Amino acid sequence: MTGNRASILAAAAIGAVVGAAAATAMVLALGADGGAADTSGPGTTAAITAAAQPPSTTVPEPPAVAWEVIGRSGQGRDLRAATFGTGEVRVYVLSAIHGDERAAVGTGPLLADAWAAGAVPDGVAVRLVPEVNPDGVVAATRADAAGVDLNRNFPTPDFEPGGDHGGAPLSEPEAAALAADIEAFGPDVIVALHAHWDGPFAEPDGPADTYAAAFVEAAAAVDPAWEVRPEVGYPTPGSLGTYYGKTLGIPVLTVELRRTGTAEDHWPAVRAGMAALLAAAAGGEGVTPPGAPG
Ligand SMILES: [Zn+2]
Repeated sequence: MTGNRASILAAAAIGAVVGAAAATAMVLALGADGGAADTSGPGTTAAITAAAQPPSTTVPEPPAVAWEVIGRSGQGRDLRAATFGTGEVRVYVLSAIHGDERAAVGTGPLLADAWAAGAVPDGVAVRLVPEVNPDGVVAATRADAAGVDLNRNFPTPDFEPGGDHGGAPLSEPEAAALAADIEAFGPDVIVALHAHWDGPFAEPDGPADTYAAAFVEAAAAVDPAWEVRPEVGYPTPGSLGTYYGKTLGIPVLTVELRRTGTAEDHWPAVRAGMAALLAAAAGGEGVTPPGAPG
C-alpha cells in the first residue's frame, strides 16, 4: 500500500511537471531509470527477462526527480527546480542561497528524494530549488561568483546598493531566476534553508508564526535543541525573508540548521519538521489571522 501510494504520488508529481510544460525534463528523468528507453515492444521476451532478475534485497532507489532548469548561475551552472505533488496549497522551499552552509547544501537532495518517494500530503504542491547558489557551493563561499550575497539582493524598500548587496535589486542571475520562479509558482508559504552558528532554530518573517510553531514542535520532539526565534534583531535589507515576508506579506520561514553539523545529523528533525509544516499547510492552518498576537 505504501509503495502504491508512492507510485501514484510520483506519477502525480510528474504529471504536474508536464502541466508546467517541462516535457523535456520529464523525458530525461524517465530515461535515467530506463523506463522510457525500453523499445523492446509488447512481446513476452521483455517480461521473461524482467522476471528473471533477482529480487532486490536492498532499499529501493528513490524515483528519479523531474528537474527543470529555471536559469543559470553567473558561471553558467544550471539552477534546478522540481515540483512534487499537485495540490492547491503551494509551498516553495529553497536551500543553499549561501554556498558555504554545508548542512543546508546537503539537505536539498534529501528533501528531493523524500518528496519524490511520496512524502507530500494530499492537497499540497511543493516546489524545491535545492541550490540557489551553485557557484558558491562549488567555491564554498557565502556569496555568488561576483561576490554578492544573494540574500541581500532582493527588491525591498530598504535595499542598499553596493558592497556585497549588488548594484541593484535582482542584479544577480541567481536571484533574478529565483524571483521569477517564485512569482510563477505563487507560493502560500516559503521555506528557506540555511545554517547558522547558533542553530538550530526557525525564524518567521511575515505571517509565518503558525508554520514556525508547527515545524519547531515536530523538530524539537526529535532534537530538543530546536526553537523558534523571533526577529534576528538587526536590519536585513534586501533579504529574501524581508522581501517576501515583510514587503509582500507571504509567510516565510527561515530554517537555520546548526552550522557545525551535517545534513544527515539534522535529517530526522528536519524531516519531521517539514512534514508538520506541510500538514499545517494542507490543513489551511498557515495564515495568522489579522490582529492575532505575535
Ligand atoms: Zn545563510
